[in-house]
Amino acid sequence: MLISLDIGATKIICALVDDNFKIIKKIKIITYAKKGKKFVLQNIFEVIKKFWNKNVEKICLGFAGKIDSKKGIIIRETNFFGDFKNTPLKKILEKEFKVPVFLGNDAQCFVLGESIFGAGKNFNNVLGFTLGTGIGVGITINKKSYCGAHYLISEIAHHIIVEENGLKCNCGNRGCFEASTSGIALEKYYKILTKEKKTGIKIYEEALKNKKLAKKAILKVAKNLGIGLAHFVNIFDPDIVVLGGGLSEIKTLYKPAIVEMKKHLADKDLFKIPVVKSKLGENAIILGAAKLACSL
Ligand SMILES: [Zn+2]
Repeated sequence: MLISLDIGATKIICALVDDNFKIIKKIKIITYAKKGKKFVLQNIFEVIKKFWNKNVEKICLGFAGKIDSKKGIIIRETNFFGDFKNTPLKKILEKEFKVPVFLGNDAQCFVLGESIFGAGKNFNNVLGFTLGTGIGVGITINKKSYCGAHYLISEIAHHIIVEENGLKCNCGNRGCFEASTSGIALEKYYKILTKEKKTGIKIYEEALKNKKLAKKAILKVAKNLGIGLAHFVNIFDPDIVVLGGGLSEIKTLYKPAIVEMKKHLADKDLFKIPVVKSKLGENAIILGAAKLACSL
């Protein structure tokens, strides 16, 4: 039995998972990333203690950032305001709970989860994206996580530029995939168009009511997403692409993004690659982290 956590900048999901990767129970709490590392760490401790029992053999976590899974260190993150840079999370938690702790990048865990248990189950090579407050990218090759020689696969959302002189990203670049397609991008484009500040959900609700500028902001993000997806598909030539996270639920974003992606594909064979939504939803990172803990 293990405790698995999905730690995002917006929410933390914690689950008790049995040896057959079945989720026994699960809770969700708000991260409050703005309150700083100490506060977030305290939240992580408390949520683990809620599910703690004598049968727990491991703890595993999917965290948004550049992660050294072998050492269990968060090398860099951009959505926790840099607070967790060089944090040895594995060591901190092992000291507290006295069981082995495994740490992976959240998108890497998402893709591994979908690849083994979800939408990518019948495919060998899966490319996955978590579209939320930030954007995560992960890949599995022959059902195994591919992290890159320097754990940089998770950071690729900052290496691919989809809009020259585009929105500024937390990483320091302008117009990178993450800066141009995330929930934060949607809010920024909406603000540029209307001078008003609204959350992604509110913008989506406005678009559903046929409000022109909300629809325009979503379309802008969709177009950027399509260009970005095409870059990744051209590079990796996967068997399937799986999209997860809050933004993938927005129908008016998802469809035009795929239309745009197809305009930029480099070979007609790439048109066959299915682009589908996550099957596991919010359980994907939890189950992927659990699988990672059992394979490291
Ligand atoms: Zn960036």
